Amino acid sequence: MSAATRPTPASEALFTRARAVTPGGVNSPVRAFNAVGGTPRFIRSAAGAWLTDVDGHEYVDLICSWGPMLLGHAHPEVQAAVQAAVARGTSYGTPTEPEVELAEEIVDRAPVDRVRFVSSGTEATMSAIRLARGFTGRDVVVKFAGCYHGHVDALLASAGSGLATFAVPGTPGVPASSTELTLVLPYNDRAAVERVFAEHGDRIACLVTEAAPGNMGVVPPEPGFNRFLAETCARHGALFVSDEVMTGFRASRQGQWGLDGAVEGWRPDLVTFGKVMGGGFPAAAFGGRADVMGRLAPDGPVYQAGTLSGNPIATTAGLTTLRLATDEVYAHIGAAGETIKEAATEALSAAGVPHVVQASGTMFSVFLTDGPVRDFADASRTSAPAYAAFFHAMLDAGVYLPPSAYEAWFLSSAHDDRAVQTVVDALPGAARAAAAALETA
Ligand SMILES: *Cc1c(COP(=O)(O)O)cnc(C)c1O
Repeated sequence: MSAATRPTPASEALFTRARAVTPGGVNSPVRAFNAVGGTPRFIRSAAGAWLTDVDGHEYVDLICSWGPMLLGHAHPEVQAAVQAAVARGTSYGTPTEPEVELAEEIVDRAPVDRVRFVSSGTEATMSAIRLARGFTGRDVVVKFAGCYHGHVDALLASAGSGLATFAVPGTPGVPASSTELTLVLPYNDRAAVERVFAEHGDRIACLVTEAAPGNMGVVPPEPGFNRFLAETCARHGALFVSDEVMTGFRASRQGQWGLDGAVEGWRPDLVTFGKVMGGGFPAAAFGGRADVMGRLAPDGPVYQAGTLSGNPIATTAGLTTLRLATDEVYAHIGAAGETIKEAATEALSAAGVPHVVQASGTMFSVFLTDGPVRDFADASRTSAPAYAAFFHAMLDAGVYLPPSAYEAWFLSSAHDDRAVQTVVDALPGAARAAAAALETA
């Protein structure tokens, strides 16, 4: 990239070895830098707001493991709790106390009566959809374009040829039979929702949505949109599944629901969680109404299970994280986010780069396109070359942004003045790099 690019021979050597034994050299595609070019940095260690790569370069981390690290890396209290738990053994395949305590903490914060633990967000949404189908005795699932719910076959779907027509597989390997019961709609589009419920309402088991989409960049629900979805589902006997895997205990203390449902007085039927609730370990969950969750095995007939579900190390990390996630933590993350959002707006405006900064609670992202971004079609207008140039200029200045234009920027309670200032100082140069990329594009 630029002349200022810091040499990364150790990352390059590991990437070469990795590609020889792992597809693309990575264990989750976005890590490969395919959207921005260059060599992914292999991270050796992390502490607080900072990552250190295998070449010894330090970066302010604005990924936070794609959301989970709400308290920053290697938080001393989380670490101590995990170390003590490891000393007691790592997995028993029996019920344990930390599971009960974490479930109580989640039921206390979120609009769920019962919660079942799994090991990934994908498993959580997959299980919630099976339960919704088992509970309602219906098969059709409605989702929104640009909302990501993990790599569940039925949800890796693209819209069919018309709004009320069934979806087609979004990737090779998903049979058409897995998506022919899925309807994909544009986000924030009430008329589209009304149309498919009018046409297919008595076949719809559930509508699943990100509580506030973060996987196409942050696209907040328009005021009242989630309530409209909940009411529409209720009117047609379908379940409203709110995917809070990203927003849960992140957008606010009570997740996105704390910003709309808790204020407006409605509850989703099922909610999925992950990311923050695992404290950096593989833990996720789905929960909801007592009568719906009561249909799940062993109380009910809908089968669902997991060898490592509710693992004592993961639940200890999640419990410790949530107990430390006080109002002050969210206030700190919110304030740090405001500073960065303002600085990004100022830098991009000064450089003449079209942009819009959008947020939901403490989650935000920066789109390099004229706003507002209401749905996936709007988000897709982001300039890929401009983002790539912006990303690499930030990286060279010691800031690790998501290596994709369609992601939220994540902060933690460990993002102190020095970390925030490093980001602020890097932004004007990165904005100029984006402007130069737009000129040559
Ligand atoms: C990350 C994410 C998932 C998938 O979680 P994994 O743990 O990666 O399987 C599902 N839904 C949303 C909203 C997410 O952000």
